[in-house]
Amino acid sequence: MQTIILGSGVPFPDPERAGASTLVRTSAGDLLFDCGRAVLMRAAAVGASAAALRAVFPTHLHSDHITDLNDVVTTRWIMSLQPSPLSIFGPGGTAGLVQATEAMLEPDVRYRMTHHDDLSWPPSAEVTECERGELLVDGAVRVTCAPTDHAPVRPTVGYRVDDAGGSVVIAGDTVPCPGLDDLCAGADMLVHTVIRRDLLEPLNIPRLNDVFDYHSTVEDAARTAARGGVGTLVLTHLVPAPRPEAEHEWAERAQAHFDGAVVVARDLTSLDVGPEAAAASASP
Ligand SMILES: [Zn+2]
Repeated sequence: MQTIILGSGVPFPDPERAGASTLVRTSAGDLLFDCGRAVLMRAAAVGASAAALRAVFPTHLHSDHITDLNDVVTTRWIMSLQPSPLSIFGPGGTAGLVQATEAMLEPDVRYRMTHHDDLSWPPSAEVTECERGELLVDGAVRVTCAPTDHAPVRPTVGYRVDDAGGSVVIAGDTVPCPGLDDLCAGADMLVHTVIRRDLLEPLNIPRLNDVFDYHSTVEDAARTAARGGVGTLVLTHLVPAPRPEAEHEWAERAQAHFDGAVVVARDLTSLDVGPEAAAASASP
């Protein structure tokens, strides 16, 4: 199993960092967690495509995590030679989001179906709203979810993927919470969104100050990883985005609270998942 950070960025546009998105390549196919800005451009860079996705899993409905869902839906539709419903698992509200996305795309669907004789079906999705428990089982692959705490954004979920020889948790945006601890127990890897309160607080910008309430700091994420006995902690969705020469500061802050391997993600950081991969190196 392989984890690829497709987008390590946040709402602020950054030419080096696409929006939040993580691809997990399993023995049962490609699983996409969140689909922020430019997700399919980054997916193309690693040979992944919307048409081949096994399923999509938004952690929550904040725009920076779902803004390119419409691109995934449309691109899968126009690149498939036969009807290919997209499986989407997500927290409550996901079904409404997908319905609204399909409504937004109605003119495009009409134009294309009118123009292309071989395209006789509209895009479609099979949506399963989830809160806790098992979502998908296929061979050695098992995907589970549990509630996270990103209040006042509710509901939100995190996910865990188990495959032969490895397990990875996708936390999404959350403060430390029991649901995330449940997912992390004994996992090989934790992909966690993080902020640096020590850098943001001195700026004293009200809209930035608000993010402290519902995001984990680097130290929070490290303590979550330590409680779960996780092998590798991957820091992503970095606020404020560090320059390459400052990334080591983020890792050192995590290492003060966590004995495992720490990776500060860039876009296309790719990591093998498994006990032997705990010391894996990042390949930006
Ligand atoms: Zn969020």
